[in-house]
Amino acid sequence: MSIQAQFTFMGTGGSMGTPVIGCHCAICHSLNPLDQRMRPSGLIQVTDKNFVIDVGPDFRMQALRLGIEKIDGVLISHAHSDHIAGLDDLRAYYFLHKSKTPCLLSELTFKELKQRYPYLFQPTNNEKSVTAQLDFCVLPQEFGSIFFQGIQWVFFSYLHAEIQVTGFRIGNFAYVSDIRYYSNQVIDMLIGVETLAISVHKKEATEVHFGIEEAMEFSTFIRTKKTYFTHLSHDFEHGKIKLPFGFELAYDGMVIFFTIPKKDLHDN
Ligand SMILES: [Zn+2]
Ligand SMILES: [Zn+2]
Repeated sequence: MSIQAQFTFMGTGGSMGTPVIGCHCAICHSLNPLDQRMRPSGLIQVTDKNFVIDVGPDFRMQALRLGIEKIDGVLISHAHSDHIAGLDDLRAYYFLHKSKTPCLLSELTFKELKQRYPYLFQPTNNEKSVTAQLDFCVLPQEFGSIFFQGIQWVFFSYLHAEIQVTGFRIGNFAYVSDIRYYSNQVIDMLIGVETLAISVHKKEATEVHFGIEEAMEFSTFIRTKKTYFTHLSHDFEHGKIKLPFGFELAYDGMVIFFTIPKKDLHDN
């Protein structure tokens, strides 16, 4: 028995977004709305719950565009600005609901957030708080699975240059952002994933990101049915790039579907 869930690409751009400020390339001048990309983030909707993966600098516009009025949990891949710079805007949800937003992240990301946003870690039970209120749930190790907000999440770690990043799997879907180097353990934990969202920053690999070739190889190891590329720089123009069957460039607002076995859901 399994239930249907959906994933919406809230942003499919790289750290600079597309268009890039001051860039005069053809893609940054493209009139195709699919080539306008906000910073990388995604919305998972399962039963009546909303989960956001990464809260980047465009979060406010993304939340307005998608009409996200409640968030049941936030998952953070790592503490680079393009993935966390919108955290302050989560305060809107505290004002709306007067409850803290649960936030799942690795120990390393937790430590980095503490340095960057010390005021988010001040204890408060004050309803008049003017900052975001997060309820941090720190992952106990680098690989494993955990029930978070009533849903089973598989988590795994890999490297973005020397920085450790966390990827997440839910049912037969996985979101793997900012990946460059990984161990076989990552592949083992993703066997059975049919739909994959994975970062590809430029066509060729860089020191910190996969290129198309590495992402296709990774997907082939997992034997995914459908792979969507996200975190795209202005290297990519929709309709101008030929990808093999089963691979696609994602775009902002794109919705895809996946399933979660019933056993991965807790009622409470
Ligand atoms: Zn990034
Ligand atoms: Zn450009």
